[in-house]
Amino acid sequence: MLFTLTYTGENPADLGYLLHKNPARPQTADVSFGRVHVFYTETGPERCTAALLLDMDPLDLVRGRRASGGIFDYVNDRPYVCSSFMCTAISGVYGTAMSGSCAKKQELADTPLDLSAGLFMLPCRGGAILPELLFEPLGYEVHAEESALLDEQFPEWGSGPYINLTIRGKVRLRDLLNHIYVLIPVFDRQKHYWIGEDEVDKLLNHGKGWLPDHPEKTLIARRYFKNLSSLAHTALDRLDNGEAQAPSPDELPVDGGTLFYSDKDEPSGTVADADGNDKNDEPAVIPRPRLNTQRLETVLGVIKESGAESVIDLGCGEGNLLRLLIKEKTFTRVTGVDVSRTALEHARDKLKIDRMPEARQKSITLFQGSVSYRDKRFRGYNAAALVEVIEHLDENRLDTLEAVLLGDARPGILVITTPNIEYNEIYGMSRFRHGDHRFEWNRARFQSWAGEAARRYGYEVSFGDIGEADAKLGAPTQMAVFIRGESPGPGDLPCA
Ligand code: SAH
Repeated sequence: MLFTLTYTGENPADLGYLLHKNPARPQTADVSFGRVHVFYTETGPERCTAALLLDMDPLDLVRGRRASGGIFDYVNDRPYVCSSFMCTAISGVYGTAMSGSCAKKQELADTPLDLSAGLFMLPCRGGAILPELLFEPLGYEVHAEESALLDEQFPEWGSGPYINLTIRGKVRLRDLLNHIYVLIPVFDRQKHYWIGEDEVDKLLNHGKGWLPDHPEKTLIARRYFKNLSSLAHTALDRLDNGEAQAPSPDELPVDGGTLFYSDKDEPSGTVADADGNDKNDEPAVIPRPRLNTQRLETVLGVIKESGAESVIDLGCGEGNLLRLLIKEKTFTRVTGVDVSRTALEHARDKLKIDRMPEARQKSITLFQGSVSYRDKRFRGYNAAALVEVIEHLDENRLDTLEAVLLGDARPGILVITTPNIEYNEIYGMSRFRHGDHRFEWNRARFQSWAGEAARRYGYEVSFGDIGEADAKLGAPTQMAVFIRGESPGPGDLPCA
């Protein structure tokens, strides 16, 4: 498993000082579960990248440990995925950097730098949702690359439950390392190791200054302790009682910094799972087949069925729905709108519009705009989609959104999807699914809002579920389909 750290800056090779690892000298150390190598993959004038390669031996894992006695002691994914063993390696190898001390370049160690980190083969189902929930509130840009399909012939099996994750931000190196140290185990649901009270101290120690304010701290604590609720509660109580607030710099422990570390780094205590069963029975973050794919395909199906020829995707993001729409010959005009210029740039790149034949290029338009302002360019489409967008607006802007779309743009059909908050219980989420969501609604609230909006502007509305529904809590995503009636809508609106 590989963990890479890239510093982009004036003297990128200073990363060597910060990490206490000489870029010119690859280093290797034996650890109780394999070997750790540190080497630099680039030391250019603009960027410098250090790689930590953890080479685990599955037999070393069993030797000297209290084994559960099943075949899974020997045959498991541990040597191939980024798990808590990686955290042990990171704290062993980069312990001094994690503490924030750097005798030669202390000022640099105390400064937020342009850093990015790559974590490869991180166990994570459901694409980018969990990484975004965890890392975006900490100020990172998140890019999650999903595994390939398990078997091209059986696309319904979905892709492998691992991602390659890149996070990028302007952060102090110590903060980035501590974020990663705490959050890797949050991804990994397998309970292959020992968890004791001292893990609570570790969590609070490495979470100092950021975990108490993290909007997903409950999710983090629960998953960190693999649902050992007593430990999660202890941690949350201590967090709520003001522990782990930002420390003074000299308060942080220096717990390593050499390539060698002792068994005390190994988690110890009571066994979290001694049954030796296949641990893949863990509840997935998002049930398969992937919710995102299901959502887009459902919306595409509804729009196709309506007979629409022109479609506008409002809040198109990086163009996931657009990609499906432009594949369909029935759509002669496809438009994507987003308030974010960056999202549109990504969409343009991903869709490779520049490489399409000219006639096809002409049928596709992307432009920057906001659904909270009346915009003539939204008019004249048979169909419009708002997929996972409304929850990004302040609730008090929804009246305007209704007026802009149902009152002024007036597509023949408008499809809106949004999370069903009731379902969050199944994900173990305390609040919203994304740090940027302003609200999430239960089914009753969504249906009353949509019903009222439809009535006001002369539309008929019906509702649908997307994703695997729970008998009590409903489906993860809820959808409203508005079909335009005959009567015209009112037109007094704020203008862009
Ligand atoms: N529909 C896409 C993206 C959903 S994320 C998908 O399903 O993949 C929400 C998107 O809404 C973001 O790209 C965000 O930039 C955009 N957005 C937020 N507020 C908006 C507004 N007022 N007008 C248009 N787009 C908006």
